[in-house]
This record gives sequence, structure tokens and C-alpha cells, in this order.
Amino acid sequence: MKIVHVASEMFPFAKVGGLGEIVGALTKEFTKKNHEVEIILPKYGFIQLNSPIEYLNVPSYENGWHNNTILSVKEHQCSVSFIEPPREIDYFIRPNIYGYYDDVSRFIYFSRSALEYLLHKKESIDILHIHDWHTSLCAVLYKDLFQKIGLNIKKIILNIHNIEYQGIVDSYILDKIGLDGKSYLSFAKMEDDHLFRSKLNLLKGGINYSDHIVAVSPSYAREILTKEYGFGLDKTLNEQKHKLSGILNGIDNSFWNPKTDENIDFHYDRKDSLEKILEQKKKNKLMLQEKVGLKKSEKPLICSIGRLVVQKGPALIERAIFTSVKNGSQFILLGSSVIEKIQKRFTKIERIFRDHGEVSINCSYDEKLAHLIYAASDFIIIPSFFEPCGLTQLIALRYGTIPIVRKTGGLSDTVFDVDDDSISEKIKNGFSFNNFLKREMDEALKRAIKYWKEDPLKIHRLIENGICSDHGMEKVALEYLSLYQKMISFE
Ligand code: ADP
Repeated sequence: MKIVHVASEMFPFAKVGGLGEIVGALTKEFTKKNHEVEIILPKYGFIQLNSPIEYLNVPSYENGWHNNTILSVKEHQCSVSFIEPPREIDYFIRPNIYGYYDDVSRFIYFSRSALEYLLHKKESIDILHIHDWHTSLCAVLYKDLFQKIGLNIKKIILNIHNIEYQGIVDSYILDKIGLDGKSYLSFAKMEDDHLFRSKLNLLKGGINYSDHIVAVSPSYAREILTKEYGFGLDKTLNEQKHKLSGILNGIDNSFWNPKTDENIDFHYDRKDSLEKILEQKKKNKLMLQEKVGLKKSEKPLICSIGRLVVQKGPALIERAIFTSVKNGSQFILLGSSVIEKIQKRFTKIERIFRDHGEVSINCSYDEKLAHLIYAASDFIIIPSFFEPCGLTQLIALRYGTIPIVRKTGGLSDTVFDVDDDSISEKIKNGFSFNNFLKREMDEALKRAIKYWKEDPLKIHRLIENGICSDHGMEKVALEYLSLYQKMISFE
């Protein structure tokens, strides 16, 4: 099959969270199965490309024609093509991927440019796979414009990685790239359902115009149909329910591998004896304690890794720090936030605990440190309000670190509580709580610390079950490929 992904992120070039990780890992698996794969990304200013690079000039439209340069490289057998606008369009020469006043215009321009490039290449495409609001407009542009002028795509699939972000925009912004913005102000097209009736919603356009929608876990596929988790798009999604499914994300097992991970000194493998795994993890813990200024101690170490945004439950994470310390544990946090209030809150906590020795707060994005934390910690806490899939619990499981999670989205599809009698002993791998409440989280956290201190055998079983489970991308890729096949055979 000829498969094209258009996305705002792809590891290792540009990654903020799960989206970038999945695009990188999934496309790598497709090439292993001999499919022809191309990924189209914006050429962000911070991306350095190694030669050989192929160059191509393809114009795109925004209040006139602009000559984009397309730079293509090979990454694990995939073609990765970067769209670099000319100097007068400064959309991507910026230090970050997101967070600018004109984000919506940036990705609208990128979406049109990606389709211009595909039209220029004159290739027939079996599957065009788009991701979140950033590239949702590709589905609209294809059906209303590019299909009519000769672009040939069999099916379009939209991945919803996070429904909270939707790309809300004034209709006239679409006029700039040659569409009649006002004509999309209807429920069946792109009119925002909820708060901003007079505005357009790009993700809604993707939902209405794509041939299929995949949410990144089965539970999330069900949850986004509800008012509580649909962020205003539940009505639209219920209309389009017949083309919605959930495929659980996975991780790149060769990248997230405690046996070969270059960011840690003491390696271990799921095939090693439990004694060896525990011994190596203990040595990694000592390394980490030394590195971040924690006291060298055998207390349980609880970690939190992730974007510090409302979705992740920052107030519960804050509470977890205090509860952990009160109950005789150490805590390490690695998180970055674009929300000033949250960033300030954690900077304050960092000051409170600066010379304490039992808490380490790291408000930054640090890929290397993340690997060491996964390898060194005993538990990871993920008290999210919603979690489409969540990768941190999957990585933690692979590194023998026990997840403590709120039962939501992908967390409820992958973490099974040690005390849940309704599930088999063989799949129990962590601790969970139902409601987004401090006291429920405290109960789960205290239970985990208590078992760690009083019932090591129980804890060891959880580690073994977790480290032996397989959340590798190979399985995930097969599910997507089977969906692709099904889609194109339905012509
Ligand atoms: P989301 O996509 O909502 O950000 P996920 O759990 O799906 O959350 O994916 C998070 C990914 O980003 C994981 O690979 C995690 O290790 C990584 N990550 C998040 N925050 C940081 C950070 N501050 N430093 C390093 N890696 C991080």
C-alpha cells in the first residue's frame, strides 16, 4: 500500500508528547512490512537535517502563491518530507512546535501545502492518515478541492489523539487559503457545535470529512461520545459513530528497552531473573538519587513524567508529592508546562523541597532524564482527568515500574488493579482508582506504598506481569494495516 501520514509531530524530528512518538513508531513498522510510507511534516526551525536531502519546489496558496521548498530525507526506510515555506511566511521558523497566537493559520497553511505537494507528485495514494486538529483540514481540502483537480486518494483516516484541542477559527481565515469559509458554517460541515457557533472547528471538519476515525484506545473511543469527555464534539461524533473505532497505542520496543537503553548504566531485560531486575533497578535508583540530589535511600521512589496541563491532574500530582513524603517515600517529577499558573505552582513546590532530599522537581523537557527515571523508579503516578491512551504507563511497565492510575481512557485499558478480584492474577500490574478525587488517589497511593513495605511478593508479581506484557508497536501496526486493507477494499 502507499500510505501517507501528514502530522505536526514525528519522533525523532519533532515531539511534544504521544502524537510524535506514535507517528514515528507506527510508520517504522509499516516499512518493515514493505509498505511504501511517506510522512509530511512542517520544517520547524529547530530541525537539522542530514544529507542526502532531496529538494523540490512546490507553490502553495495563502493570499497569493508562495514557493515552498520540500526537503525529503530517509528515516528507517520511510520518506520524510518537510515543508519549508519561503521567508515571507514565517510560520515554522520558531523555537517551539505549538503555543503561538497564529497556530491555527500555521497548520491551515501546512495542510494546504501538504496536499499541493501530493498533487504535484501525481501519485495515487491508498491511505492518507491525518492526526488531530492540526491536519484535519486535509480531509476537507481533499474532498472539496484537490479531488476535483486530480489528486487521487482512496481513503482518509483521522486519528484522534486528544479531543480537547480542536482548532477553532474564524471562517474568513479559510478564505485566505482559497476556500469559501462561510460555506462551512453548518452542523454537517465545520460549524463549531458548542461555544462558538459562528466559528469553524477544524477537528470537526476532520471528523465529518474523513472516511474513518480512530481514537487511540477503545475506552477513549467510547468516552468521547459522552458530554463529559467529548469537549463539545460528542454530538457530532455520535452522528459519525458508524465510522469511529479505537486502537490502543503502543510503544517502540527497540527504543524503550531497558536492555539496550543508552541513557541508563544498569541494564536489564524481561528475560532476566527478578533478582537481577530488582538489583539493576536499585543501582539505577542510586544513580538517579545522586544526579538529582535526592538522599541515597531505599525508600520507594514514586515518579511523575508528563506535560503539566489540566488534563494530567496537576492538583492531584501536587497532592501525590505530599502524600508520598508523608508515607515514607521519595518523589521525582519531570514535567514541562506552557500554562504559566501551573508552571509557577510547581516552581513553588520545587522551592519548598529544595534542600529536603526526598523530593526532586524538574520543570523541563529532558528525554535522557526521563529514561533514567523510568528505569530507577518503583512507581509512576498518573492521576489524569482524561487520558486518550497514555504512553508513560506503557513505558513504565516495560521498565518494571508499577503504575498507579486513574481509571480513564487508555489507562483503564492497560492498568489492572492488584486488588480487583474480577480479573486474572496474570494480568494484574498496578493500582487504580475510579474518580478524579484526591482522597481516592491517596487511597491507591497509600495502598501501593503499604504493599511495597509489607508485601514484597505481591509487588514482585506486579513487576513481573508488567515487564512481560507486550505493548510493542508491531501489534498496533497490524491493527492499523488491517483497518487500512478493510477501508480500501470497500471502494
Ligand atoms: P501526552 O501525549 O498527553 O503528552 P503521553 O503519555 O501519551 O502523553 O506521552 C508522553 C510522552 O512524552 C512520553 O514518551 C513521555 O516520556 C514524554 N514526556 C512527557 N513529558 C516529558 C518531559 N518533561 N521530559 C521528557 N519526556 C517527556
